[in-house]
Amino acid sequence: MQAYRFAFDLTPSQERSVLSHAGAGRKAYNWALARVKAVLDQRAAERSYGLTDALTPAMGWSLPALRRAWNAAKEQVAPWWRECSKEAFNTGLDALARGLKNWSDSRAGKRAGRKVGFPRFKAKHRTVPTVRFTTGTIRVEPDRKHVVLPRLGRLKLHESARKPARRLEAGTARIMSATVRRHGGRWFVAFTVEVDRTVRRSASGPVVGVDVGIKNLAVLSTGELVANPRHLNAAQVRLRALGRALSRKAGPDRRARKDPSKRWLRAKSRLGRAHARVANLRRDGLHKLTTRLVRGHATVMVEDLNVAGMLANRRLARHIADAGFAELRRQLAYKTSWNGGRLIVADRWYPSSKTCSACGVKAKLALAERIYTCAACGLVLDRDLNAARNLAALTAAEVSTAGSGPVAGRGAIRKTRSGGQEAVKRLSGTAPAGKTGTVLPQGRTAA
Ligand SMILES: [Zn+2]
Repeated sequence: MQAYRFAFDLTPSQERSVLSHAGAGRKAYNWALARVKAVLDQRAAERSYGLTDALTPAMGWSLPALRRAWNAAKEQVAPWWRECSKEAFNTGLDALARGLKNWSDSRAGKRAGRKVGFPRFKAKHRTVPTVRFTTGTIRVEPDRKHVVLPRLGRLKLHESARKPARRLEAGTARIMSATVRRHGGRWFVAFTVEVDRTVRRSASGPVVGVDVGIKNLAVLSTGELVANPRHLNAAQVRLRALGRALSRKAGPDRRARKDPSKRWLRAKSRLGRAHARVANLRRDGLHKLTTRLVRGHATVMVEDLNVAGMLANRRLARHIADAGFAELRRQLAYKTSWNGGRLIVADRWYPSSKTCSACGVKAKLALAERIYTCAACGLVLDRDLNAARNLAALTAAEVSTAGSGPVAGRGAIRKTRSGGQEAVKRLSGTAPAGKTGTVLPQGRTAA
């Protein structure tokens, strides 16, 4: 499965049509959530009176159950339902079914990660307008500049959709769904596509070790330094000015039931667009870097960083989030598997910075020392380059689980063994007291 995302150039009336579909989804979501809540509350109240057998019947939470309930009620709840595609209502009901499942799984301890709360009602001003089509006519037009979606019709793309179009024409891809959503003041369509992929290369060939950090986004074992563009830093002056301008305008006031002023809305959208630009620049740079790494090397070695832990450090969080370590790793994982290569993730406690890449002797290295000097063999090398070379030199014997498969987002995954200390897979929330929070592997990112 692969996603292809394209920006739209919508006409005002097309935009209204998409927004009305998004609103229809929200309506179905809110209606069904109110229903589920009412039934749950009613049953809780009945139980509190001591009733046990004659309870109000429970309501199903699965998507088919919610859909049945909606179809039975839509004539009363939304007499205008014929104006929108049924997929719009389905989008909302599907979101609710997932939300309720996540909540109940989380409560039952069947779901890893942070606790998931009970779904909240969706408000127009707080929700990203979106609609997903899974059935009906979804196609890219032969000119590759237009797509056809059910009900919405023929919509113009901002750029050519030649990449998925080539695959679709060759019969090596099939569109599973199309999601239209607004992001940073623009409309996008994302196709979820099932792709038959021919693996390009076997897993033998050049190896590269990649040491990620803040000073340099990546230091490769080949000696190449990839600068950290720090897009957020560069945009900071403008973002502050826009934020200040927004705060001086009359925003919404819930207590006074006052709507925001037109100027406030415009300022808010300007700020949103500026943030979206930062995100776009970051994503673009990361994609170019990971594609280059994966195309040029059969095996990519990185170290396992506790990004969630590092984000808990408030002096580092902004810089780490801006660098996009987690996204870099995620992209490497799927791109290596597409190319028939391998991504090897070194253990979180593998001392890549403290080991000499020439003779293998371990040394003490303070956080601030940028140059690695070996007392045993006299090697003098940049600290990060030394770490990258160590990663590249990891042999198959040291790697217990070589994997390019999907990389789990949380918890430490044991990939390599390194003398004595072992990473143990840990579920969140089970860390011993005083051991939670920031883990800086070798402190290298604290530059
Ligand atoms: Zn040495």
